[in-house]
Amino acid sequence: MGDARRAAGPRIEPVVAPKGTYDILPEDQPQRTWLLERAASVFARYGYGRLDTPLFEETRLFSRGVGESTDIVRKEMYTFEDNGGRSMTLRPEGTAPAARAFVEHGMHTRPLPVKVWYYWPMFRYEAPQSGRYRQHFQLGVEALGSHSPVLDAEVIGVLHALYKEIGLMRVELRFNSMGCRACRRPYTDRLRSFLQAHQGDLCDECRERMDLNPLRSFDCKVPYCREVMDSAPRLADFLCEECAEHHHTVKRHLELQGVEFVEDHRLVRGMDYYTRTTFEFQAANLGAQSGVGGGGRYDNLVEAIGGPPTPGVGWGSGVERILLALNRGGAPEVRSRAPAAYLVAVSAPARETAFGLAHDLRARGVTVDLDFMMRSMKGQMKQAGRSGAAFALIVGDEELQAGQVTLRYLAEAREERLAAEAAVNTIVQWEESRG
Ligand SMILES: [Zn+2]
Ligand SMILES: [Zn+2]
Repeated sequence: MGDARRAAGPRIEPVVAPKGTYDILPEDQPQRTWLLERAASVFARYGYGRLDTPLFEETRLFSRGVGESTDIVRKEMYTFEDNGGRSMTLRPEGTAPAARAFVEHGMHTRPLPVKVWYYWPMFRYEAPQSGRYRQHFQLGVEALGSHSPVLDAEVIGVLHALYKEIGLMRVELRFNSMGCRACRRPYTDRLRSFLQAHQGDLCDECRERMDLNPLRSFDCKVPYCREVMDSAPRLADFLCEECAEHHHTVKRHLELQGVEFVEDHRLVRGMDYYTRTTFEFQAANLGAQSGVGGGGRYDNLVEAIGGPPTPGVGWGSGVERILLALNRGGAPEVRSRAPAAYLVAVSAPARETAFGLAHDLRARGVTVDLDFMMRSMKGQMKQAGRSGAAFALIVGDEELQAGQVTLRYLAEAREERLAAEAAVNTIVQWEESRG
């Protein structure tokens, strides 16, 4: 009766992952694990420690720390009210949470600068496009507590070293200065008057944000806006003496690291807290959306979220963008570790023995696998070959009587019959020698 009712019921539409998100399947993990390990190794060499913060924060952290006028805060955040009536937001970027943790844990009393790195999922309601997702991962670093331009150069140097370490070679560093409060304000006024004079030649969006955030017009992709912006006044020509000196020193220390760069006066960032150094690495093979990682200095952020005045500099680099650029460049395949042995048994008592041997091997640190699908001997041997194992450990009924097993060396197509314990020892030794 139950079956009949089920058959007559409505067909259930299968659930799929939310638009703009994706699953990371087991076969996709080895490359990510490899990337994370390479990144951790580079960050350690530069003295950065790993930081983790909650996936969600109070909304006001981002409205203050990222800026009310930015696209992120205006259109892209996943904001919800929790059951206690507080407004919470899924983390859209890494700098504000890192700065929040710095203030909350009184890190300004530690030896400065405090240098951290992260590997975090970020959430932004964006139009899905190649390599951009509503939940995506970012690798990033933040260094807080120093005004030194040499730190800017180191922070850029870390990202350059990471790309080199993983073989992402065809990247170009674009580099600019956003000035400071003193020199940016007169510049912004000047830019606003320029845009007002050209408003007839600008797109709706550029006209809309002209008052709130005129710098954003440099980001506009509309061809006629780009043409207008070509003749716009340049921030580089308005830098105060300190900012000009800072910019010069960063460049000098990029050269000392052998990091090549292109000065790009159009490179400005939407976040209100950015000051002075701003940069972006672009990957040639990512097409129009070529940015693979970028960041800059944010000397006004910590104060903006209620902390003591603290300078900072950092970057974020999208993991999906890195992998896309790597894989388009023909990255070597990273595979998961094959088992050392595959256990083969057919009859019920042989299967029990094999199960016990698998347990013993795993307890001794050996990677092994075995059959759960009641396959035939032939079927299991096929699985053993497919798994990439070095050995098939065969528990036959005849061997079982004698307390023995057959150990087949799969690569060499030879086998021997020996006591189960001796076979286990051989496999353990092999596993230890592969390291
Ligand atoms: Zn300045
Ligand atoms: Zn425009």
